[in-house]
Amino acid sequence: MNILVLGSGGREHALARSIADSPRTDRLFVAPGNGGTAAFAQNVPQLSIEDGQAVLAFAQREDVQLVVVGPEAPLVAGVADALRQAGIDVFGPDAQGAQLEGSKTFSKRFMERNGIPTAAYGSFTDAAAARGFADQLGAPVVVKADGLAAGKGVVVAGTLEEAHAAIDECFSGAFGQAGAVVVVEECLTGPECSMLAFVSQGRALCMAPAQDHKRAFEGDAGPNTGGMGCYSPVPIVSDDELAAMQRIMQQAAEATAREFDHDYRGVLYGGFMLTPEGPKMLEFNARFGDPETQVVLPRLRTDLVDVLQAVAQGRPDDIRLEWADQWAVGVVLASAGYPGAYRKGLPIAGCDEAAQLEGVTVYHAGTARTADGGLVTAGGRVLCVTALGDTFEDARACAYSACTRIEFEGKQFRADIGERAARGRHA
Ligand code: ATP
Repeated sequence: MNILVLGSGGREHALARSIADSPRTDRLFVAPGNGGTAAFAQNVPQLSIEDGQAVLAFAQREDVQLVVVGPEAPLVAGVADALRQAGIDVFGPDAQGAQLEGSKTFSKRFMERNGIPTAAYGSFTDAAAARGFADQLGAPVVVKADGLAAGKGVVVAGTLEEAHAAIDECFSGAFGQAGAVVVVEECLTGPECSMLAFVSQGRALCMAPAQDHKRAFEGDAGPNTGGMGCYSPVPIVSDDELAAMQRIMQQAAEATAREFDHDYRGVLYGGFMLTPEGPKMLEFNARFGDPETQVVLPRLRTDLVDVLQAVAQGRPDDIRLEWADQWAVGVVLASAGYPGAYRKGLPIAGCDEAAQLEGVTVYHAGTARTADGGLVTAGGRVLCVTALGDTFEDARACAYSACTRIEFEGKQFRADIGERAARGRHA
């Protein structure tokens, strides 16, 4: 089968790597791809991946039978709709389903209608009303731009003054159309945990939970990033919490089948907070997480192409997910300055040596190949080094040992990925 993956990050490298490992894959394209995918797939740097007609034309020209959409923007833009209408199998929901991620108001109303536990909220197009609701909830309170803002549209405000300022910032146009509607939410407390599920025909096939580290610096300090590291499964999650998250994901999957015009076929990502009253949904994403994918997929023993195709064709009952009985820890190596400004084009050394360690995979995110085949930095998050181990500690130690073998100027990474989990929930 010929397969096209859309995207250029570590998530797409992980997807493409597992797809390439399947005996069912003939030709594999990644658009635009990165320096890692270039080693085993054909990168397509010129394709506009948010343009459904352009993606469709490419798929038809290259006889692609399955398209796997990595990031959210093409989904929200309706790329999956264009492909499906033309009869091409797509892994990823259509534009309506992607609104679960594309609009926080849409998502909160969906949760409310379907009894999915979540924070109390109000949705506003007017600053005075939004401030009034924030005052009513009291500080701390959470203010969110409704639309996609690359993780920058959320403020957990410690005081009402901060909340008012965040509301005014959204309505000032700081996030463009994404901030034209503002969601104000009750502030929940507890550890966060993600659960991803393959969803098709109203069935949720849950993956193991994962936990990421969003802040740039050790001790969860500094600005928010796309994610600096991740691990799966999550040692601090109790059996009851795990069962509750799986139940909630199934509840959500059934609701997609009841409510949406077309079947939701792709990944539904539940971002949970493990509150004292049980897990509550903070947000849905309509795709695999990054870096969650880089720690979840290496444990999957089932052929990923079988899974992706069955989901895309609405055959969830044909899937049996099998997982390695191991732990996975992933550490992101980032450019100096990230998530602010950073330099590109710096030579990277040591990836092959790191990948030779047993259980280690080096996923590329912001990398590119030079004309002579050299590897250079090309983004903020450069690599995600994932290690599998028989214990959580083994996986952590191995990931860090691999990280020290990789060098590029200004390399920064958090040395405390998984430390809190290793210490236990109440440490
Ligand atoms: P991302 O792009 O990082 O997925 P996002 O912009 O879609 O994020 P959310 O995931 O809804 O936004 O929120 C980002 C972060 O803000 C959460 O991971 C969590 O730490 C915090 N947060 C969001 N909602 C709440 C809440 N109700 N109570 C406490 N913290 C919250």
